[in-house]
Amino acid sequence: MEIPERSLNTEIQFAKGVGPKPAPLYNKLKIFTIYDLLFHLPRRYEDRRNLPRMASLRAGMSVTIKGEVTHVESKRMRNKMSAFYAWVSDGTGQVKLSWFNQPWVAKRLVEGIEVIAYGTLKANGYQLEISSPDYELIGEDDDIDEFAKIMPVYPATEGLGQKSIRRAIAANLDSYVPLIEDLLPSKIRSQNDLMDLQQAMYSVHRPQEAEWSKEARNRLVFDEFFAMQVQLQIQRAKSQKEQGISFPLNDLEKQRESMRAGLLGVTRELSPLSDEIKLMLPFALTGAQNRVVSEIWRDMERQIPMNRLVQGDVGSGKTAVSACAILGAVRCGYQAALMAPTEILAEQHYIVMKRLFEPLGYEVVFVAGKLKVKERKKVRDLLESHTAHIAVGTHALIQDDLNFHKLGLVVIDEQHRFGVMQRASLRKKAELSPDVLVMTATPIPRTLTMTLYGDLDVSVIDELPPGRKPIKTHWKKPSDRVTVYKSLLQLLEAGRQAYFVCPAIEESEKMQTQAAVDLHYRLSTGVFSNYKVGLLHGQMKSVDKEQVMEEFRNHQLDILVSTVVIEVGVDVPNATVMVIEDANRFGLSQLHQIRGRVGRGDHQSFCILISDATSEETRERLQVLVDSQDGFVISETDLRLRGPGDVMGTAQSGSLDLKLADLAQDLKILERAREAAIQMLVDDPNLTQPENKLFIKRVKALHDDQAHIIRS
Ligand code: ADP
Ligand code: MG
Repeated sequence: MEIPERSLNTEIQFAKGVGPKPAPLYNKLKIFTIYDLLFHLPRRYEDRRNLPRMASLRAGMSVTIKGEVTHVESKRMRNKMSAFYAWVSDGTGQVKLSWFNQPWVAKRLVEGIEVIAYGTLKANGYQLEISSPDYELIGEDDDIDEFAKIMPVYPATEGLGQKSIRRAIAANLDSYVPLIEDLLPSKIRSQNDLMDLQQAMYSVHRPQEAEWSKEARNRLVFDEFFAMQVQLQIQRAKSQKEQGISFPLNDLEKQRESMRAGLLGVTRELSPLSDEIKLMLPFALTGAQNRVVSEIWRDMERQIPMNRLVQGDVGSGKTAVSACAILGAVRCGYQAALMAPTEILAEQHYIVMKRLFEPLGYEVVFVAGKLKVKERKKVRDLLESHTAHIAVGTHALIQDDLNFHKLGLVVIDEQHRFGVMQRASLRKKAELSPDVLVMTATPIPRTLTMTLYGDLDVSVIDELPPGRKPIKTHWKKPSDRVTVYKSLLQLLEAGRQAYFVCPAIEESEKMQTQAAVDLHYRLSTGVFSNYKVGLLHGQMKSVDKEQVMEEFRNHQLDILVSTVVIEVGVDVPNATVMVIEDANRFGLSQLHQIRGRVGRGDHQSFCILISDATSEETRERLQVLVDSQDGFVISETDLRLRGPGDVMGTAQSGSLDLKLADLAQDLKILERAREAAIQMLVDDPNLTQPENKLFIKRVKALHDDQAHIIRS
């Protein structure tokens, strides 16, 4: 057999202009093959045909500037910090560029060199400044015509810059694009007026006109949505035919039978389920929680598998609702699994579930990747023998070696980090399809939910537990820090705890960590030196992370400085202050999530957004948070402000497994893709038409490939 010379599956190290040395850096960007390289799409474009003159610049603008470095300055500070500044001029004006702790920048940006930089202008005294800009040097080998174009700007990473990525893509485009097969059934292509796929590939990477690149991107985004929607629709059709479990929630006699068979953790006299809830929870359910629990229980009693999404704003009490569902399952002689996206969250759920269920006699186990072989074996035995009733864990729950004796219910917290495929593999762990409950605080606008979670029914917890005082949110300038810290001291004095969150710094986890490390140092040696200040960031080992969380939970720490790892689910009611540094760097919905870590107890809580935002848009964004605490209002505003059709923007959906698409700007395409998917299954329910059959086959194969990459 002849081995084809060129294939899209060729490993990235064999791509022209790449080689084995930078290959691991490409892997970091999730580029493993040439196919991945071609689908590494620009996150924005830079129109370099008419760059603004510096004289016309104002603070708040996001701009690309071009000029000559007139002078530079390096500063060393205490505690190993360094700063580097470069002043760039184009003859009409000047802009200051600044970097922190990136010594390699100083080596490249020397006086006299020409540079192009992109970022948001801040007023700094009389000067305009961009901190940590995207930048590129203009060298002698850069041809001016080559330069004055619409330039794609790709996601990059430390050690692998714009130019290298651009060069690698350009070098392989012509040889490999012709190998890309357009699998989208032709009918769908024509009905939706989509650009030719190969043409689209050329246009996104080599745009001649901004309009073209937009249309091209739309084509690729459509493909991505369509593949997802088709899978959702197929799954929906399938799950309607599946045999599920009919839990005898209201049949005490049947529950007693399970008890006699030794499947329940109890041997005492059983009282009705709703009474046992009162025994289990330290509080009464809110009206909304009650309603959602009945919706869930109703589903559980039915023979078809439950597929329900519970949406509830941060702090609305989703954990209690999932505990009620779990109690229902274990009472009927089944086991339940609760899966969380991170170990910290899983651990927290584990603590809560133990507290709720152990007094009732049920055994709860913890399953995570970090378990030692021996522990894991023990947990496995407990689950296989049905000695344990509830397993709480991370995605380690879905690994192949873990078997349940009688899995009846799967609860997935914070669904947006889990894909459709993971849900399916948990389902496979039981004879009869277990019921699936998905909990999310992601405030997706109501209109979007059905489109995104096409195979789920939806319940909404639209009420907060009683006695919650609204969180007081303030927006403060960096120059107000001293006053902020003073007020915080009083709250710490009164026994409260506080979080400080540092922003994610795009493309560099190291810098992000550094920011947290620096802030931790400043706080613990400065104003708050009389208090215990802890540090949590993504590069710490998970045992250390948990230890820090544990200490914060037990009030051995007063302040927790953290990167966004605490974003979802963490619950420490005594923490009542959230200080968010550089708040304008976060999306609105994300800020809302972070803020939701406070306001969980009886004490008045505060959220301080620190930002020197001067642009109108940023001001409007932050004001929404000051004014509102309704996740839906916030996410709708977020969508509106980021607006559709902003190809130049870098909005991040942060949700689902989408590689290319962005929910904020691509809603219309999503709706079209959904309609097309539904239509396809109406026209060809068994997918027998060759084009459709091939398409599904390829989508599945691709998905399996990706799952493989995620695992490895
Ligand atoms: P989320 O929906 O964000 O996951 P949690 O389940 O963590 O919210 O609940 C937030 C806090 O509210 C927890 O401290 C929990 O104990 C408390 N809580 C939940 N439901 C009620 C209720 N009905 N009455 C009083 N407190 C409640
Ligand atoms: Mg939660």
